[in-house]
Amino acid sequence: MAFDGEARCTIALGWDCEMIGDYHEGEIPVKTHGRLDEKVIEYTRRIASVAAEAGVPMQFYILGMSLEEDVALWHDLIAQGHAVDQHTYDHFRLNHQDTANVIEQVRITSELFKEKLGFYPAGLRGPGGYRNGLDDCPEIYPHLLETGIEFVSSQYATSGPSSRYDLAADKNAYMGIKHMQPRRYASGLLEIPITGYSDRHFFDTMGRDLNGWIEHLQRCIDFAYDIGGLLYSPALHPDTHARHDPGIETIEAILAYAARKHEPVRFCTHRDIAAQVMAS
Ligand SMILES: [Zn+2]
Repeated sequence: MAFDGEARCTIALGWDCEMIGDYHEGEIPVKTHGRLDEKVIEYTRRIASVAAEAGVPMQFYILGMSLEEDVALWHDLIAQGHAVDQHTYDHFRLNHQDTANVIEQVRITSELFKEKLGFYPAGLRGPGGYRNGLDDCPEIYPHLLETGIEFVSSQYATSGPSSRYDLAADKNAYMGIKHMQPRRYASGLLEIPITGYSDRHFFDTMGRDLNGWIEHLQRCIDFAYDIGGLLYSPALHPDTHARHDPGIETIEAILAYAARKHEPVRFCTHRDIAAQVMAS
């Protein structure tokens, strides 16, 4: 599968809209993942607007739980040209052995999408990410397809130490992009792997800083661009970025960096990639 089209390489920025508990300001609800605080809602609006003004569509994943609250934000993102798909109801792992719960969470969330946003989601981000994607749980493929899920983004195989900096791990993080390209499971379900470091991994696990983060994204873009025809698709989180990048430097830097390349770099959503694969 090639995702270049007219461009040298493709970048799909995927944002998982959720809250990890200790990012919550004030009283922490029992289940925090889908209950976004005002700071994160505002940050999500800002990143969506910055990208939309640059003509760049992004992919957002939301929890079913978030659709039980004010849904104006999600309508606004869609109106700006961004794609919104699901991330289960309350952040339940797709490779959990309680398959019945996995299927029910996806089903309930798809119904909430239909009721609150007017459409069924075509995409599903796997909470937590899994080294083998969904290779280890083929029993859920037919159920996902029945629910209208056409693609998942669940594979995350970037490993890194907890120390601040490791040259070999950093190199592996971007070189792995070559082996982590969209692929189909036996059933036809599409996997769009998560590549490079996730922001959680970089900032929260490894404790690294914003300059290092932007540099990492630039190295990933360089690699996808230099090899050519590759998709670079990192997992990002508005709550992590709101804390570590309050000035929205990452998106601005990435857009400017991609624009400086000689050949065009394409930005798209995971939905765009799925549509391209289906048509090919
Ligand atoms: Zn998540």
